[in-house]
Amino acid sequence: MNEMIHRSKTRPVRVGNLTIGGSDELFIQSMTTTKTHDVEATVAEILRLEEAGCQIIRVACPDERAANSIGAIKERINIPLVVDIHFDYKLALIAIEQGADKIRINPGNIGRQEKVEAVVKAAKAKGIPIRIGVNAGSLEKHILKKYGYPTADGMVESALHHIKILEDLDFHDIIVSLKASDVNLAVEAYTKAAAAFDYPLHLGITESGTLFAGSIKSAAGLGTLLSAGIGNTLRVSLSADPVQEVKVARELLKIFGLSSNAATLISCPTCGRIEIDLISIANEVEEYISTIKAPLKVAVLGCAVNGPGEAREADIGIAGARGEGLLFMKGKTVRKVPEETMVEELKMEIDKLAEEYFEK
Ligand code: SF4
Repeated sequence: MNEMIHRSKTRPVRVGNLTIGGSDELFIQSMTTTKTHDVEATVAEILRLEEAGCQIIRVACPDERAANSIGAIKERINIPLVVDIHFDYKLALIAIEQGADKIRINPGNIGRQEKVEAVVKAAKAKGIPIRIGVNAGSLEKHILKKYGYPTADGMVESALHHIKILEDLDFHDIIVSLKASDVNLAVEAYTKAAAAFDYPLHLGITESGTLFAGSIKSAAGLGTLLSAGIGNTLRVSLSADPVQEVKVARELLKIFGLSSNAATLISCPTCGRIEIDLISIANEVEEYISTIKAPLKVAVLGCAVNGPGEAREADIGIAGARGEGLLFMKGKTVRKVPEETMVEELKMEIDKLAEEYFEK
């Protein structure tokens, strides 16, 4: 099987107003950190995440209070809501009844067959998918016994075990994740899963750590998979504000040309030729373009010597020079701009280009 095309070769599965799988499109997910029964706090966090570019949100559902809050949360948000349930089929039934757009539950952990059937029947009736979440840290006993310790083969076997339970009930709206905090293990498990079945894959490196180290760890693992054409949704898991998870995920998708609604900053590393305070300008411009929903490439360069030519692929950019800067587009200088107004002029030009993009 050609893994390069797994992403688009997956089965399309509807989640709210989105279709996961069956195309090259990849969606960014995150998870709330609030108590789900605290509807006010949960909605406020989800709205912040939406603003940052989150496209699907998951909430924990540890008890009935949380399950009974799903409807109230859903009413006030604009992106599909996934409800994360461990074992308790009653919570799954409530969440589905309340309008969950997807539930994350492992059918093999629900218990008696009637309970599994009840959940599957309810999900079918509402037309919502089930995500099977395999985690290297909580593999079934019989699999651990067979392999001795968590392995990629064991993780895929666990996924297939849960998949079979759903398929036997003629349920196919399935999404699968195979998370591990060990990058190599996660990459191997997802790669093997992509060869074993065509259900869409939700990518994640679990417990990856703090904002700095966790971003690098996630980028290494998720980047490897994305470049191999694997993955239909992803979550960057960080011990940080979930808004940061979304920002890191967006950057990753941009790198692989998988984001069509975000601008990218190109900035030079600076060197002895530098003529302007590039680091603060780069940060200011990065912040500014974080809300631009057009796929523009914006460059900020420290000097004009190699400047515009170094960023030929940029749609728009500035290169510093003593007292004034050069504004350039696609490697060609457009005009000189005074240093004091350089950043403001760049912002104006970015807005113009974004407008033109949406008028097209
Ligand atoms: Fe150095 Fe100029 Fe290149 Fe920046 S753009 S790295 S300042 S030569």
